[in-house]
Amino acid sequence: MRPTRSRPWSGLPVLLVGVLLSTACARGHAPLRTEPSPGPAPDSIGTPSPASAQPSGARPGTLHALLAAKGLIVPVEGVAPARVRDSYTASRGGRTHDAVDIMAPRGTPVLAADSGSILKLRRNDAGGLTIYQLDHASQFVYYYAHLDRYQEGLAEGQRLRQGQVIGYVGTTGNAPKDAPHLHFQVMLYRGNGQYWGGEPVNPHPFFTRPGRRP
Ligand SMILES: [Zn+2]
Repeated sequence: MRPTRSRPWSGLPVLLVGVLLSTACARGHAPLRTEPSPGPAPDSIGTPSPASAQPSGARPGTLHALLAAKGLIVPVEGVAPARVRDSYTASRGGRTHDAVDIMAPRGTPVLAADSGSILKLRRNDAGGLTIYQLDHASQFVYYYAHLDRYQEGLAEGQRLRQGQVIGYVGTTGNAPKDAPHLHFQVMLYRGNGQYWGGEPVNPHPFFTRPGRRP
């Protein structure tokens, strides 16, 4: 399932870009439903959780209104919302992707999609080098994967401004080596520091602006 050709990004014909888009994250990594287990089963949207500040129990419409209110930017510098393909419901190794892949050359700055703080910095087999960010209202977790590297000095607990550089696009984990991209996922926060297992929400309709630094 991996592209067999390797070329500079700038030389990729449109057709090949389409192939890369369709095969990015080809083995699937939906990392958050299952890891790091053990832990309680993921809460559904309708199941209240211990976290008082998070919106579990909200109807999907309310959930979407909450996410819309965040005014998310595309979390890759210079990428406009219209350039992001909606691969949220795409199949990835027998499960749904539950995330979007934002294609960009290796080393492109990854920006905080929203303000908030770093909840967890973690490396895992599928996602590679990853960041879990909490929004300032402790409602959502933003997951950034396949990073080439973190921004220097990045630390858990650090506060973030929207648009702040947090890392750089890469292919760590199971990303095809010739298709660098950011795997970006939004989940409900389950509270109590549980960065994993939250109900995923499609961010694609809620990107309001291109990725740009403050
Ligand atoms: Zn992905």
